[in-house]
Amino acid sequence: MALTKYQQKRDFKVTPEPKGGSGPKASAKELSFVVQKHQASHLHYDFRLQWNGVLLSWAIPKGPSPDPSVKRLAMPVEDHPLEYGGFEGVIPEGQYGGGTVMVWDRGYWVPEVPDVDKALREGQLKFSLHGAKLRGSWALVRTGIGGSPRTKWLLIKHRDDHASSDDITVAKPRSVISKKLLADIAKANGGDIVKAAKADPPRKATRA
Ligand code: MN
Repeated sequence: MALTKYQQKRDFKVTPEPKGGSGPKASAKELSFVVQKHQASHLHYDFRLQWNGVLLSWAIPKGPSPDPSVKRLAMPVEDHPLEYGGFEGVIPEGQYGGGTVMVWDRGYWVPEVPDVDKALREGQLKFSLHGAKLRGSWALVRTGIGGSPRTKWLLIKHRDDHASSDDITVAKPRSVISKKLLADIAKANGGDIVKAAKADPPRKATRA
């Protein structure tokens, strides 16, 4: 069962995250994707693609970049349930991934390879994203750099009309579903507002 690792890491009596297995059925037509900004022990962006009934997941410390010359490190993490894509809120401190979670972008993705399972095995997945912030053609590429015991991938934007040198994580810091900043989400859900605010862009000083 693909969600075993996900469920073993969490105490669902304590965390408000979805347990999985009882969520909405996969859409027959579109494959969803979501990017969740997650201020845990370290800030990262969880990049998730719906495949085979779960959300395949990578943690991207610096977040996605629409600049084709910028390759972003993406560490594979455990599969998540499909309904996790709608989760925005606070994971209690002391729990796995404790901190504030924002739905930073979401939409659907389209494979640009004939066989996704084969592409994943070979570490070369090409796809297009149809989100509110992320669009156009991208690749996830597995790399052996560093000889680390943990497999690393890179998320890379392909050159197309949606490529840009903008720093999208800075330019578009708000939730795509609630329009809130991370600190607002922490505040609304009883989380650590000061910790969450560290991952928001600096607020303009109010003049007296
Ligand atoms: Mn995370």
